[in-house]
Amino acid sequence: MTQVFNFSAGPAVLPKEVLQQAQAELLDWHGSGMSVMEMSHRGPEFSQIIAECEADLRELMAIPSNYKVLLLQGGATSQFAMVPMNLIGRTGRADYINTGHWAKGAIKEAKRYGEINIAASAEDRNFTYIPPVAEWQLSRDASYVHYTPNETIGGVEYQFTPEVGDVPLVADMSSNILSRPVDVSKFGLIYGGAQKNIGPSGLVVVIVREDLIGHALPFTPTMFDYRTHADAGSMYNTPATFAVYVAGLIFKWLKARGGVAAMEQVNIAKAKLVYDAIEQSGGFYHSPVAADCRSRMNIPFTLRDDTLNGSFLKEAEARHLLQLKGHKSVGGMRASIYNAMPIEGVQTLVDFMADFARRHG
Ligand SMILES: *Cc1c(COP(=O)(O)O)cnc(C)c1O
Repeated sequence: MTQVFNFSAGPAVLPKEVLQQAQAELLDWHGSGMSVMEMSHRGPEFSQIIAECEADLRELMAIPSNYKVLLLQGGATSQFAMVPMNLIGRTGRADYINTGHWAKGAIKEAKRYGEINIAASAEDRNFTYIPPVAEWQLSRDASYVHYTPNETIGGVEYQFTPEVGDVPLVADMSSNILSRPVDVSKFGLIYGGAQKNIGPSGLVVVIVREDLIGHALPFTPTMFDYRTHADAGSMYNTPATFAVYVAGLIFKWLKARGGVAAMEQVNIAKAKLVYDAIEQSGGFYHSPVAADCRSRMNIPFTLRDDTLNGSFLKEAEARHLLQLKGHKSVGGMRASIYNAMPIEGVQTLVDFMADFARRHG
């Protein structure tokens, strides 16, 4: 099999060791004679798998005991609706920070359920920066403040957790969860689609403070009420069993590598390699993002001469560097370098970037 480096934004690269383990266990999980895909979600085998999955995530993120961990379906997009349905009832209003594509998606959906105040927006500079927290126009009676710690398309990442007082802070952490330590107690709710840093697509992890559960708007479907899933231990209906299993393997893989703090050090080193390659290219490559909020996970960059985009992608692919094409709203390239991207992949990319610039500069 050819060794490739996959820079996809999502679904994204998974650790090779985890895929190999899933392969080895595919037909016969731990002597059960069954694949995880074939098991009753209520049987002892899967009960163990989901319990360990949750326990390992709790350990990795040091999740306090007054938070529930829900392993749900529908991806992060389902949370664009579930968050307001469950949380906005207290005052009927919520504050949102508009930092790009994914924040906009959350805002558009939330408007169906209450009054949404855009407390700050970076749209004036095409979402290349984070509006200073001191300038956020937070409302006094917001039920919660929603923000997007890492904008997967724009490549803009908060390097801090914003202070919003007593109002519950809600974060769409889909593309940087587990990439750096966070203090969960500062949040009311964290959610993340799995297919960037956690595992297979479809699964979404919700970490929610217990006092925020049980206040859903009256019309909320049973399946969209956090209380349903909290009371049932994420087993109200059949969970995404295989995705939960693979996520659990990833959590064990992370623990074996020293956990989130160790991952952060590797992520800092990997991101530095790419940003240095951009900065040292003499303008051949360009990062559109303000220096203080450049993402460690998703790095968009453009070429000075965009007629070279096609050759760049073609030559990259010939070197087994895959899925580098940027999102159409930014143009150019995007290198997504999640936890599972090995540093050798990033080194191969920056060597290629330097070589390409030398030959075409
Ligand atoms: C990928 C992504 C989403 C959407 O996730 P789905 O699982 O496709 O619903 C939402 N928010 C962010 C920040 C993302 O990166």
